[in-house]
Amino acid sequence: MTPIGPGGTVGILGGGQLARMLALEARRMGYRVAIQDPDPHAAGMVLADHRVVGSLGDLAAATELAACSDVITLDTEHVPIEVLEHLSVTRPVRPGGPVLRVIQDRLEQRRFIASLDIAQTAYSSIEHAADLERAISVPAVLKTRRAGYDGKGQVRVSEAVELAAAWDALGRAPAVLESFVDFAKEISVLLARGTDGQIVFYPLAENEHRRHVLHLSRAPARVSPDIQDLARWIGARIATALGHVGMLAVELFLTHDDRLLVNEIAPRTHNSGHYTFGGCVTSQFEQHLRAVCGLPLGDPTLLRPAVMINLLGDLWAAGPPRWDLLLAHPGAQLHLYGKRDPSSGRKMGHVLVLDADADAASAAISESLGRL
Ligand code: AMP
Repeated sequence: MTPIGPGGTVGILGGGQLARMLALEARRMGYRVAIQDPDPHAAGMVLADHRVVGSLGDLAAATELAACSDVITLDTEHVPIEVLEHLSVTRPVRPGGPVLRVIQDRLEQRRFIASLDIAQTAYSSIEHAADLERAISVPAVLKTRRAGYDGKGQVRVSEAVELAAAWDALGRAPAVLESFVDFAKEISVLLARGTDGQIVFYPLAENEHRRHVLHLSRAPARVSPDIQDLARWIGARIATALGHVGMLAVELFLTHDDRLLVNEIAPRTHNSGHYTFGGCVTSQFEQHLRAVCGLPLGDPTLLRPAVMINLLGDLWAAGPPRWDLLLAHPGAQLHLYGKRDPSSGRKMGHVLVLDADADAASAAISESLGRL
């Protein structure tokens, strides 16, 4: 296929921070950017050449987006399949409907992973009240099949008697009950797959979550070469089986007995890959663009050990945070997403620290956050 070169327009469904960083890199490379989002002030919208205000299910809006785009990509996996299929008649949509059909539904995702003989958490499908009685044992996490992210649509269940109330709390929506994994570490494998099937891997990220939301990522992850190989094998197998084009992240639990269990697949740029933007020769955003535009993939080499910390809205509770504290480390880089409303738990930006000694970087940033 002929690559879509600079000067062409990349259309993005969804205008959050991932679209914003994609737009920043796209503009640097000389692409034009079109973004569709219901919120005209969304983080990415301000950087778009063409803004299409409309919900992600709005077919007329999506048709308008496609009319000014040479290729369509996504900042969220929660785009109705019908929209993707409609657009794919006239434009390349990467990733497309077949990938999203598997990813959007947690149960489909679990079945897909099982079909590839890749290890994952034990799970049960919950559709009717009776399913709760037959389900896997607790402790477990009940997750809605659709539309969950950053801990939304999830309830931790410690005792069997809590199951019914947990399902009520999720509005009795179809759900998946997953065994709670007492993991040693959470890591993610980040890769890009090109239109020719070539795959490029980034160094594994080691992730720390707080209240189900990513708090900190560091790269490279402190894991054995065998675990690295296994993680890459899992990522490549998933990306290839999906026929995916673009960035893809697989979140993994490393167990105390050195097994890797898949938690979740994200067929896009990923929060745990933000360290690549400033930390690697080619950021995940440039890499995603290269992949979806059919260009050769870039060098994923990490320039220096990196620690990334998310800045949530809570930090703004008493006014803007002390930037001098957050940027005290000379290797700190600030990324803010330009969001107006710093509500609790909302991802407002992140700080990336590069340091030859990742432990020192991590300690420095934790200390700054502590003082805030
Ligand atoms: P998710 O939205 O499914 O990626 O979940 C967000 C975070 O919640 C994960 O990164 C874990 O820290 C935690 N979590 C989710 N599912 C489980 C599980 N089955 N066992 C242990 N922790 C989990």
